[in-house]
Amino acid sequence: MKKCLNCNIEIGGRIDTCPLCQNSLTGEASPNNWPSPSGLKAKAFLYKLQLFVVLAAIAVGVSLDYLLDLNNGTHYSFVIALWLIVFELQLRSNLRRIFVISRTVSFGILYSALLLLLTGYWFGFFDIIAYTVVPIMLGAALLANLTFSMIDTAENALVYLLGNIFLVFVVYASLRIKGIEAGLVWTICLMVSFVSLIGIIIFKGRKVSDEIQKRMNF
Ligand SMILES: [Zn+2]
Repeated sequence: MKKCLNCNIEIGGRIDTCPLCQNSLTGEASPNNWPSPSGLKAKAFLYKLQLFVVLAAIAVGVSLDYLLDLNNGTHYSFVIALWLIVFELQLRSNLRRIFVISRTVSFGILYSALLLLLTGYWFGFFDIIAYTVVPIMLGAALLANLTFSMIDTAENALVYLLGNIFLVFVVYASLRIKGIEAGLVWTICLMVSFVSLIGIIIFKGRKVSDEIQKRMNF
């Protein structure tokens, strides 16, 4: 057992400093009281390594792009850097939390859609992204979340499906209120969200209103 002379306590395991006062411990180390997490250090190193490579590439790329102006005023690096930074944030949040497939899929599609809108705006193909690509992505997310809701017994997917349906309603309504023709693909996406809502109410019934009340803190 190691000893802290300051706190006058004995501490098991192989640590060098007192967990209470941070003073150095004296005495012989005893075996750890808990299993050492095998593989965790290697994973942490790999994560840091890829983070370093990506951030270094961003720094070099953005500097070269703006300082040397290789593409005559068109700066691709800003958009690419943004994609990489959002990817890193997503990776980090996924590694830190318990893996929930509906959350990963929902936020992956949501952030990709936002980045695509920005990319389209930046390079002048905003309309095809906004009126074709994004509604297809949200429609695919709806079908995925509907499937997850049906097979997921922990009901984690339900809130993402409801959020997804709500998002499609809000976007569609906003377009119509502004007098913008939403187009065929958005209309199909809206129909998919209606069908999802009907399906989830029929198959999950009471759990849907329970979930809404729980999330809204009624
Ligand atoms: Zn101490």
